[in-house]
Amino acid sequence: MAVNMEVFHQFLGQIAQLGARAKPARLSDQERVQQAKSVLREGLRAEQAGDLESCMHCGLCAEACHFRVGTDNPRYTPAAKFQLARRVYRREVGPFRWLYRLATREITVQDLLDAQELVFDSCTTCGRCTLICPMGINIAGLVTLTRHALASAGLIPDDLAAVEQEQGENGTVFGAGPEHLEQALEQLRSQGIEAPLDKPQAEVMVLTSVVDLLLFNDQLASTVRLLNKLGLDWTFRSNAFEGANFGYLAGCGEVQKKATLRVIEEAVSIGAKAVIVPECGHAYPALRWEGANVYGKPLPFDVYAISEFIGLMLREGRLQLPGALEGEVVTYHDPCKVGRHSGVFQEPREVLQALGAELHEMPSHALTNWCCGGGAGLFVINSTAPLRRAAFEIKKREVEQTGAAKVVMACGSCRLNFIKGQEDTGMAGEIVSLVALVGEHLETPDPDRGIPEKTTE
Ligand code: SF4
Ligand code: SF4
Repeated sequence: MAVNMEVFHQFLGQIAQLGARAKPARLSDQERVQQAKSVLREGLRAEQAGDLESCMHCGLCAEACHFRVGTDNPRYTPAAKFQLARRVYRREVGPFRWLYRLATREITVQDLLDAQELVFDSCTTCGRCTLICPMGINIAGLVTLTRHALASAGLIPDDLAAVEQEQGENGTVFGAGPEHLEQALEQLRSQGIEAPLDKPQAEVMVLTSVVDLLLFNDQLASTVRLLNKLGLDWTFRSNAFEGANFGYLAGCGEVQKKATLRVIEEAVSIGAKAVIVPECGHAYPALRWEGANVYGKPLPFDVYAISEFIGLMLREGRLQLPGALEGEVVTYHDPCKVGRHSGVFQEPREVLQALGAELHEMPSHALTNWCCGGGAGLFVINSTAPLRRAAFEIKKREVEQTGAAKVVMACGSCRLNFIKGQEDTGMAGEIVSLVALVGEHLETPDPDRGIPEKTTE
């Protein structure tokens, strides 16, 4: 289903106004520097210290980064994005700190401001550079740590900060609260679709996201139809339905923890054995990989990305899809956080195969897939628009080389960025959500068999 472009542009209008909503941090320059250094000092684990020691300035990572390649600007070379962390490490943590203190100057607030553009505007923490780095340096991890340092110094870009602050204070994102969920579900009920909300006990708790509620209703409706067809004992919960976590994106540990605990505690309270995360790239690692750290112990339930879950249901024979796309050429864009960061590559492809589609892969796909440029919160940072556009040219070329009529993806942020990228560059092909595609073509003869055991780790 095509997105309503009027609603899409209204959403872009909201994003354009975000900066004015941010509450500035009232810190002196000196306090900002002290805060940032303190977070970097404390956050540098042995593994990251090893990364900072081992960069040999070969420059190979430059070829991997969509922002570096898309702009041809050496400023955006991945190795440049961890130089603030490296300087603090060398001056304050490393074994030769006494020497570096003599030979290098102190960090200033200008250094923090310079790093802001590198770790927020020009890095989606996609992880592609690590694949090419001969030392295997986890650049995305260092960028994330630097985001935390800048967040503590009150230097999150204003527009991203506004969303993070809203989620921290109200628990909502772009104002999408429980009443929006209730309205969206009521609309589905008016079409005769059962849409469970706030069941006191359920085996499966399902999350959605602000973009599903405000823009991509097809993703929400298809998720509901799919779970009903599977005969699962499932529910949304009005107290914890949002999968997006802007604390995680902005580097604000407190807000990240609050948003994650809200989901975990709600799932525990209803006895859920599984939580299904919607098509929202970062929502999956935020709960699946970071959730236990936040909770302080292993999660008492499994976490699935919806694209992964559909694939597993197919594998287990609990779902059948008609070959409705027989002969149709499609390509699949792997969202970085669900694909490269989490290993969900095969399941969505099996879904497309089950639908009968002819999958034409992009020249770089799965592990080496080029990021579309909109992840890690960049879509809401207005200053990133030229960078995102330059990076999207790579994606456009990749997509068009496949000759696909549809480019399918399983991330609402990617979908937003693709729609904008298509508008900017004229990329060919229809932009489609995987779950929406499945929802349009459901055929499940044998429901009511519960959820599968999660075996992948
Ligand atoms: S993680 Fe991705 S966006 Fe960030 S520097 Fe590496 S390749 Fe570029
Ligand atoms: S590829 Fe690795 S070692 Fe080479 S410059 Fe980049 S981060 Fe440093």
